[in-house]
Amino acid sequence: MDKEHQGMMRKDTLLTHLGSHPRDNHGAVNPPVYHASTITFPTVAARDAARAKKFEGVTYGRSGTPTTFALEEALAGIEGGHRAMLVSSGLAAISVAMLAFVSAGDHVLVADTVYGPCRIFCDRVLKRFGVEVTFYDPLIGAGIAELIRPNTKVVYCESPGSLTFEIQDIPAIAAAAHARGVKVLHDNTWGTPYFFPSFKHGVDVSIHAATKYIVGHSDAMLGAIVTNEECFLPVRQSMAELGYCAGPDDIYFGLRGLRTMAVRLRQHQESATKIATWLQGRPEVAQVLYPALPGAPGHELWKRDFLGACGLFSIILHPAAKPGVDAMLDGMRLFAMGASWGGFESLILPSHPEDLRTATRWAGAGPVMRLHIGLEDPADLMADLSDGFDRMRLTNQAVAAE
Ligand SMILES: *Cc1c(COP(=O)(O)O)cnc(C)c1O
Repeated sequence: MDKEHQGMMRKDTLLTHLGSHPRDNHGAVNPPVYHASTITFPTVAARDAARAKKFEGVTYGRSGTPTTFALEEALAGIEGGHRAMLVSSGLAAISVAMLAFVSAGDHVLVADTVYGPCRIFCDRVLKRFGVEVTFYDPLIGAGIAELIRPNTKVVYCESPGSLTFEIQDIPAIAAAAHARGVKVLHDNTWGTPYFFPSFKHGVDVSIHAATKYIVGHSDAMLGAIVTNEECFLPVRQSMAELGYCAGPDDIYFGLRGLRTMAVRLRQHQESATKIATWLQGRPEVAQVLYPALPGAPGHELWKRDFLGACGLFSIILHPAAKPGVDAMLDGMRLFAMGASWGGFESLILPSHPEDLRTATRWAGAGPVMRLHIGLEDPADLMADLSDGFDRMRLTNQAVAAE
């Protein structure tokens, strides 16, 4: 697709065509999967010319091949960023992006509700190299200004928050950060490049666990970093220095998943909304944490900033004894228990946000479960959950009677 027309195209069209160059590949719709380490050159002059172009073109397997560039081009275009980069996992994307902007003696502000392994990376790796880390209340908004110090280099956001789905006021945070020359990094895995336009809202570096909805089929690990123009070089350099890259087959899975991401996301949202609404009316459920649901925490900010919602949310149950909760989870027919999400299948996971908060206190009284609503018929999913609630009640009644 030429640049002139690209600017006029709508998002679903870009998702379908960006990064596709059939004329370069004998007319094949999809790019070949290049398995390459060594890239050879016919002459010294050709090699020198290739090496002179920094971070462009094919020079070595780790620096990317046309397979890599196809997905990078598509991701950057859809989110509205300058360029994208691919690494081996979402967590690798987080670490390479952070390490691009900090040195010993610097300070970073990190949302208290970040993805657990991101918190561990900050607490263990960043601190070990002399970087100060302050976790902040994700609902702080413009109040972040008071936490910015002369040595603060990064405000790290994740909206909605992991497990508990707090929506952050990213435009307000970005305005406060930029006023002090601080970069805004945002984990946009839940929003996806399709539902949350990071750069429009002031984000400098958008991070994705492409493992989730971009791959979309639970069969590959992949991370992506999309940046504005100013942040491209620092992140790309950090990636080169650390030796990060992604495997060609995983990149291909990412590209293949991306082509259908819009239709999948729309279905995930429709089914999740249906099930979240139903759960809200269940006597076992104290609160549904799905920002797309009217009345849910963060709904107003979600409506202002997001263009849609994916299939992931949590529920807080009324206090219930563990044997019953375990019986519910152990006997599910369709909801499988396991980490990750964004694939076609439904998942359920007991979670413990209280163990992962230091700047705020988790106030939920009952057990928390995170649900990923897959592409099954929502009626079958509701029947599965309904039977699960019955198992929970009957088991706890039996335990109480003993
Ligand atoms: C899963 C996840 C990650 C990590 O991605 P991996 O590909 O599993 O390393 C990062 N951020 C969020 C919000 C996630 O859910």
